[in-house]
Amino acid sequence: MPPPVFRFAPSPNGYLHLGHAYSALLNFDLAQQGGGSFLLRIEDIDATRCRPEYEAAIYEDLAWLGIAWEMPVRRQSEHFAAYREAIDRLSALSLIYPSFESRAEIARLVEAREKASPWPRDPDGAPLYPGTAKSLLPAERERRLASDAPFALRLDMEAAIARAGHLTWNELGAGPSGETGIVAARPDAWGDVILARKETPTSYHLSVVIDDALQGVTQVVRGEDLFCSTSVHRLLQQLLRIPQPAYRHHHLIRDDTGRKLSKSTLATGLRELRAAGATPAKIRQLVGLP
Ligand code: GLU
Repeated sequence: MPPPVFRFAPSPNGYLHLGHAYSALLNFDLAQQGGGSFLLRIEDIDATRCRPEYEAAIYEDLAWLGIAWEMPVRRQSEHFAAYREAIDRLSALSLIYPSFESRAEIARLVEAREKASPWPRDPDGAPLYPGTAKSLLPAERERRLASDAPFALRLDMEAAIARAGHLTWNELGAGPSGETGIVAARPDAWGDVILARKETPTSYHLSVVIDDALQGVTQVVRGEDLFCSTSVHRLLQQLLRIPQPAYRHHHLIRDDTGRKLSKSTLATGLRELRAAGATPAKIRQLVGLP
């Protein structure tokens, strides 16, 4: 068996907290124990929320924790061409269509539909796409694409599932309800997900599967909040004919009230803990790692 490849893939849209420390240290420890490698990837596709000072802080905080990563670091904002190429391949399979509604219009459409019966939500709680852009006539679609209007490129989920068939993944950890072992993918739960936008030619789902494949990642170890997203990732891997890694979803570090940590809660920020005198050994102890 070739040595395993692990990665930690933070978004530089805030400072790291104990939850990130747990995920990064767990990946690093597993890589060391398995004689594998540990990669760091900066998921900075969202130019409106990512900032250079957060990226610099990621390097500083991880080094302080005693984590070493292979060079070069992959920064997603430098690889838009690779994501565009994947969109082109999916388009060539007739699995992509543009939609033109704003967020406000989508909210209005959902409200209107909910007058009849509850409208389905995706695993993150967002309403499934309620629009009808899939059935726009080609000429109208071209006219709108050529205009200044913003658009989102969506996956035609029904067609994608028909093409890919039944999919599973190997879960070495556990999902929020204890799912483990061979897990059935349920990409239909996400509806026609957005894979790219006019201003950002990719999305979290698309970049993560392309990069894991291009970087040869064999073990995706990440928080259980991304467990359900794995269904979309498996679907994209199948459609794009790229290898599937094994997945290990881990529990989330929670605050005293049981809530998931956010990048703005100072009490659990690594910089704050460090300033208050915490050592890397103390951080390991706080997140329950040896
Ligand atoms: N960039 C994602 C985050 O910050 C993690 C992506 C992943 O591990 O698949 O939550």
